[in-house]
Amino acid sequence: MHRIVIENCAVATVDAQDTEYASGHVVVAGNRIESVGPGPAPEGLEGVVRRVDGTGHLLTPGLVNTHHHFYQWLTRGLAQDHNLFDWLVALYPTWARIDEPMVYAAARGSLAMMVRGGVTTAMDHHYVFPRGSGDLLGAEIRAARELGVRFTAARGSMDLGSSDGGLPPDFAVETTEDALAATEEAIDTHHDASPDAMLRIVVAPCSPFSVTTDLMRESAELARRKGVRLHTHGSETVEEEKFCHERFGTGPTDYFDRTGWLGEDVWMAHCVHMNDDDIAAFARTGTGVAHCPSSNARLAAGIARVPDLLAAGVPVGLGVDGTASNESGELHTELRNALLINRLGDHREKALTVRQALRLGTHGGARVLGRQDEIGSLEPGKLADLVLWRLDGLGHSTIADPVAALVLGAAAPVTLSLVNGEPVVEAGRLLTADEDAVARDARDEARRLARIAAEE
Ligand SMILES: [Zn+2]
Repeated sequence: MHRIVIENCAVATVDAQDTEYASGHVVVAGNRIESVGPGPAPEGLEGVVRRVDGTGHLLTPGLVNTHHHFYQWLTRGLAQDHNLFDWLVALYPTWARIDEPMVYAAARGSLAMMVRGGVTTAMDHHYVFPRGSGDLLGAEIRAARELGVRFTAARGSMDLGSSDGGLPPDFAVETTEDALAATEEAIDTHHDASPDAMLRIVVAPCSPFSVTTDLMRESAELARRKGVRLHTHGSETVEEEKFCHERFGTGPTDYFDRTGWLGEDVWMAHCVHMNDDDIAAFARTGTGVAHCPSSNARLAAGIARVPDLLAAGVPVGLGVDGTASNESGELHTELRNALLINRLGDHREKALTVRQALRLGTHGGARVLGRQDEIGSLEPGKLADLVLWRLDGLGHSTIADPVAALVLGAAAPVTLSLVNGEPVVEAGRLLTADEDAVARDARDEARRLARIAAEE
C-alpha cells in the first residue's frame, strides 16, 4: 500500500469535536486517510512514497461545492446590474445556443478554477439542453474525470416555457417526457453508488418558475425509485415567492412539500426567503441547503438566514453558483463571504464563526450531498480528499490563528491538494490540466457562442 505523509502543519480536522492540532500529521494510505494526530507521523511506516513537510501550512478537508452551473463560464460579466428574473430573461436566448464543445470547454474552465482553489468535490446543475446540442452531461463528466475531481452531476431540466406561464422562452425547454427519459438514462449510464464513487448523478429540475408541477412530482418519484438524490433552486428571490403564490396559492416551501420535495435526500440552492415555519419544515425533514452568498449578493436576492438554519439543525453547505452570477468561480472565497454577508443580516448577535464557515465549506457540503461518512473531515477511514494551504506568505503570516487566516484572509495558495489520494494541485498549479490552454479554449468557445447568439 502506497502511503503519503503530511506533517509539521496545523491541522483542522472538522470532525464532530472540531479537533485541531497546532502541529500535526495525516497519513494517507491508498485513497483513504489512515491516521490523523498531533506531532509528526508515527515512525516505521512502510511504503511511504512521499513525505511532505507542511511547516507554515494548514491542512483541511478538501472543499465541497454544492451548487454550480458550469456552462455559465462562457457568459460571465453580462447583465451586470440585473436582478434574478431580468438576468435570466437576458441570458436565456444565449444559453439556448450552447453545444457540446462549448459545455466541455466551460466545464474545464469552471473545474480548473475550483480545483486550483482547493475544491476536491465539484458539483454541477445543468438544465439547458437545446435540441441537437450533443451529449452535454457527458461532456461535463469527461471534463471532471480529466481534472481528477470527485463529481456530482445533477441532470437538470426545464419544461415550463413562457407560453405556459413559465419564465424561460419556449425554445429553451424540453418536454416533460423527454426530460424524465434523459434523466433516467443519465442515472442508468453514469451513477456510481459505491462508497468511494468519483461520480454520482442527481435528479434536478431547475426551479418552480421553469418546471411544471408534473415534472417536479415525477422527478421526485424517479429519484426515489433509483435511489439517487434530488436538487433544485428554491426560495431565491421575492419574485419567485410572488410567482409561487400567484400560480400555486402557496409559498415555495409548501409547494415543495406538496410535490414530494422535502426530505433527507433533497437539497436546494439559496433558500434566502424562508420564514420560521419554512426553516422548521427543512429541519424536520432533513432537507439541505446550498448557501451561495456571492451569487445572492450579485443578483440582489437577499441574505439567507444561515445562523437560524444551523441552529435549527438544517444541513447547510456552500455553493459557488454559476459564474454568470459569481464571476470569481471560486469556493474558498465563499468561506469568507458566507461569514461577512451573514454579519450584515438581521442576526449579528448569532453571527457565524470562522470555524463554522470552514465547516460549511467541507463537512456541511458533504452532509448536503449525503456523503458525510465518506468525505468532509480528516478522520481515519475517510477518503483522502484534503488540501494543504500555504499561510506563511505575505497574505497570512501575521494571522496567528490558521483557520482565521484561511477564512478571513486573502485567498490562500494551495501547496498540495489530494483527491482520492491522488495529487491534483502542487505549488498552486494544476497537475491535471494546462491552465493557459483551458483559458484559451474557453475564450474561443465563449466568442463562438456570442457570435451564434448575435446571428439570431
Ligand atoms: Zn443556480
